[in-house]
Amino acid sequence: MTHAIAPRSGILDIAPYIGGASHADGVAEIVKLSSNENPWGPPASAVAALERAARTLNRYPSTDHLALRTALGEVHDLDPGRIVCGAGSDEIIALLCQAYSGPGTEVLHTRHGFSMYKISALAAGATPVDVPETDRRVDVDALLGAMGKATRLVFVTNPGNPTGTMLTPDELVRLADGLPADALLVLDGAYAEYADDGYDGGAALVTERENVVMTRTFSKAYGLGGLRVGWAYAAPDVIDVLNRVRGPFNLGDLQLAAAEAALHDRDFVTRTVSETKRLRGWLAEALAALGIPSDPSSANYVLARLADQAEAEACEAHLRAEGLLVRKVAGYGLPECLRITIGDEAACRRVADNIARFR
Ligand code: PMP
Repeated sequence: MTHAIAPRSGILDIAPYIGGASHADGVAEIVKLSSNENPWGPPASAVAALERAARTLNRYPSTDHLALRTALGEVHDLDPGRIVCGAGSDEIIALLCQAYSGPGTEVLHTRHGFSMYKISALAAGATPVDVPETDRRVDVDALLGAMGKATRLVFVTNPGNPTGTMLTPDELVRLADGLPADALLVLDGAYAEYADDGYDGGAALVTERENVVMTRTFSKAYGLGGLRVGWAYAAPDVIDVLNRVRGPFNLGDLQLAAAEAALHDRDFVTRTVSETKRLRGWLAEALAALGIPSDPSSANYVLARLADQAEAEACEAHLRAEGLLVRKVAGYGLPECLRITIGDEAACRRVADNIARFR
């Protein structure tokens, strides 16, 4: 595509992000299992908070997000001074790339990793480096081997998306130990709530090291994907840098109020995460009984491995015709796989029944 006024070099290398269908597409009777949303959200407590916050919308919102950061600090036992909030973790990823990478530098991401790392790196003028994974798992040795003097950021999703697999605490330490000077390791914990109890998203490692950043989101376990709130926990220097580059009003009052309410609604998060974990096990077993393997998942989806790309595409089309949207992940280097978000019990049963009929 040519443009009358050309953007800076690299921008037209960005393939626009193609998301799953949105509820706003207006398709009735669709069960959407393609974007890893919480099927039981949004929490009623967050909706009530939105209504209250709406009464003062004539005013600009907080610029320091202090109330939300304080609440995050309480719930996660972290220093609120080391937290920055953004419009989804997408914004945090973009800000990290803007502030720490640029022309002549490299941003590492894993082959089956989230596409925004590459998009944000290109938008910042940096060179994204796609590092292979092994058996749908982040390959620590490959990442360490790809790091060099030009490396500024290393993005690792843990649990992985779309794989659902986890790095061990020891592997995370090895990655942090191997970072070149001037590089940050970013642990994207978008799905951390769905991992085994006790996984802190990498927070303890961030507390120990000034070159590790943790990103988190309200879009998954908190049931607020439409709200756009994410946050990062990092060393004070990194927080200072991100606060300099972000817009002062990057989060509106509605976002701040609803996220804070959801954070305090521990019952919603605990209940929906535990139901997701139960149904995740159920769906993986149902697929295995049909001869379709999946890796043990630590997230709110399973990655079903069909025979090959043709079968994965046919299966996705069959499910779509039945009103069930799941995600093809060929673009993430996994052409034979389908990523299926864990919906409610009825949705999981419909998926299993329809795949059985397809097979
Ligand atoms: N990281 C990962 C791994 C994701 O899967 C997503 C959402 N698909 C995000 C970050 C962005 O989430 P959000 O911007 O909604 O916080």
